[in-house]
Amino acid sequence: MRPDILNPLFAEVSSLKGVGPGLAKPLDRLGLERVKDLAYHFPANWTYRKTVSRVDEADVGQNIIVTLTIVDQRSGGSARAPTRIYGADTEGQYVALTYFGRNGAWARKQLPMGATRIVSGKLERYGDTLQIVHPDHVAEPGHGHAPAAIEPVYPLSEGLTNGRLGQLVVQAVERLPELPEWIEPSLLEQRKWLGWREALSAVHCKDSAEVRDRLAYDELFANQLAMRLVRAAMDKRRGTPVQGDGRLTGQLRMPFDLTGAQKRVIGEIEGDLIQGRPMLRLLQGDVGSGKTMVALHALLRAVEAGFQGALLAPTEILARQHFANLQASLSGLPVNVAILTGRDKGRVRESVLMGLADGSIDILVGTHAIFQEAVTYKALALAVIDEQHRFGVSQRLMLSKKGSGVPHLLVMTATPIPRTLALAAYGEMDVSQIDEMPPGRTPVDTRVLSQGRLPELIDGVARHLASGKQAYWVCPLVEESEVSDLAAAEQRAAELKLRFGDQVAVIHGRMKGPEKDAVMEAFSSGKTRLLVATTVIEVGVDVPNASLMIIEAADRFGLAQLHQLRGRVGRGTEQSVCILVRGESVSETARARLALMRETNDGFRIAEEDLKLRGAGELLGTRQSGETPFRVATNEQVRELIGAASADARLLLERDGGLDSPRGSAARIALYLFERDAGVATLRGG
Ligand code: ADP
Ligand code: MG
Repeated sequence: MRPDILNPLFAEVSSLKGVGPGLAKPLDRLGLERVKDLAYHFPANWTYRKTVSRVDEADVGQNIIVTLTIVDQRSGGSARAPTRIYGADTEGQYVALTYFGRNGAWARKQLPMGATRIVSGKLERYGDTLQIVHPDHVAEPGHGHAPAAIEPVYPLSEGLTNGRLGQLVVQAVERLPELPEWIEPSLLEQRKWLGWREALSAVHCKDSAEVRDRLAYDELFANQLAMRLVRAAMDKRRGTPVQGDGRLTGQLRMPFDLTGAQKRVIGEIEGDLIQGRPMLRLLQGDVGSGKTMVALHALLRAVEAGFQGALLAPTEILARQHFANLQASLSGLPVNVAILTGRDKGRVRESVLMGLADGSIDILVGTHAIFQEAVTYKALALAVIDEQHRFGVSQRLMLSKKGSGVPHLLVMTATPIPRTLALAAYGEMDVSQIDEMPPGRTPVDTRVLSQGRLPELIDGVARHLASGKQAYWVCPLVEESEVSDLAAAEQRAAELKLRFGDQVAVIHGRMKGPEKDAVMEAFSSGKTRLLVATTVIEVGVDVPNASLMIIEAADRFGLAQLHQLRGRVGRGTEQSVCILVRGESVSETARARLALMRETNDGFRIAEEDLKLRGAGELLGTRQSGETPFRVATNEQVRELIGAASADARLLLERDGGLDSPRGSAARIALYLFERDAGVATLRGG
């Protein structure tokens, strides 16, 4: 259970003064649900103000704080003209305080004739006089909050002002408890870091890299600690040593030889499978590198040894494709493969469940349904998770409840993870890489075109389709503007239909599963020739005849995503083409990234370079899409601090594996604070 000391932090924001239903929505949009979220809502920027006694001490354009005596009030005369209230500084120099609209009436009350007021705002020139338009603070000396010389500027959402949010943050910070220190003392000293509470308070008052680093480190440390704990718990559990005898893998008839890289990673996996300790391995390999064959070998090993294996796909259609491929590869072999997805109901489902329970099914392919509570296996020894590198710690723990021993786990992904970030995201996993493509693949010819040349491009598509081949047309879908993006994609599809008729079909994320599957099936069978898609084909289905892909507004895609999309057309042996269409105005970074896509087909290189290009930007897409496990730490900080956090976590666990020492129990608090509870769970249940 969460330590009581953290309770004030996990209280709902509605427990703060002044948070009613009106603020709930804007706060929710920013993901600010609990007091702790507010305390960790860091300023995006700062307003600096110069305190002056005479306005001529400041430059036009500067934010100032000045004490004025109100000497005149003039309303604009008409509804649209502003109200000007004149104040004099200590030297008698005038400043006009300008208010538009209904603010005028309010200002007349706040700034009565003869009164002294502390005013802050941006100094501007207005004809011969100086003015401040809508001063951001007006305070009576000795009353209320005087404007600060430095003020945080927070990320906001509609319905929330910076001042309002600032007040809530102050309340949140006031509630911060004093927590015991979990960072290694020598590191704290060497980095000159503040304690947790001081740092979390300071981060809202000054722009300090040191302060932010300390807070980011906390999160990284908790992450590394949780990963190590989960791993340690997994290692301690009894796994199922799987020693195949080659009677099935040896008979596998394949139209090709395995690549050296495939052989190598199969060896690595087999090395894990024979251990009593359950495997926890990530297999990385570009789209088309042949991960499925590796998975099949591993699954057959399990079957050879008398156990069951499961292959989990992220989508229904991919599950069905895997099922079909596996059945084809295994025809003639004494292996019983079955499929189970959310769509299988009633008798079909019952019979699969029975087959799993009595062991007559050797390999089960399916979607997440295959790990549901109701599904019991007779002897599950290996689970392979396809295209889902975000398979989380808690899902792993759930999986470990299946079967008698903990099954071996192989997670496969085509998302190239930069080496520098792998530790943060998969610190507890062993990693295998397929760094070689099957022979005969020509790299995808990638070109960049500007939006203005779309008409020519459509002519090109017409020629391509006329030659009997198929094509993808991808439109971006960005979360914030999903509705309008979808409209744009549908509009494009409508235009293309005018030209190409019912050769065109559309697929997008709002469609229901069966609908999507029907569209994909029509495309892979060749009935549909041109598939207009939002990003849903990201982890899609093999269509060897589709050798052209157009990606509209390519500068809006993440590079990893572009790379994966492009991989879809690189399957055949003939030249495949990918055309990146960029908007008319493209930022420098976007330009450089598109150039990089042109230059290389190497996913790992793309990932590394992209990380450099983006600097402190986002990892493999955006925070919102849940690609990074971090809320506090930026990529830059991950790169800089993860090594130290990892070493720190390791040392602590070496000395105090049960986290029982004073520092250990402080570290437990950090785990709860960053909601890495799964890590703590391993300590007790374990
Ligand atoms: P991914 O890594 O993207 O999952 P797949 O496993 O789907 O890739 O393989 C892509 C294609 O390459 C499949 O058609 C598969 O049959 C083929 N393939 C796999 N391994 C080889 C190989 N060693 N030589 C030639 N083709 C291969
Ligand atoms: Mg695959």
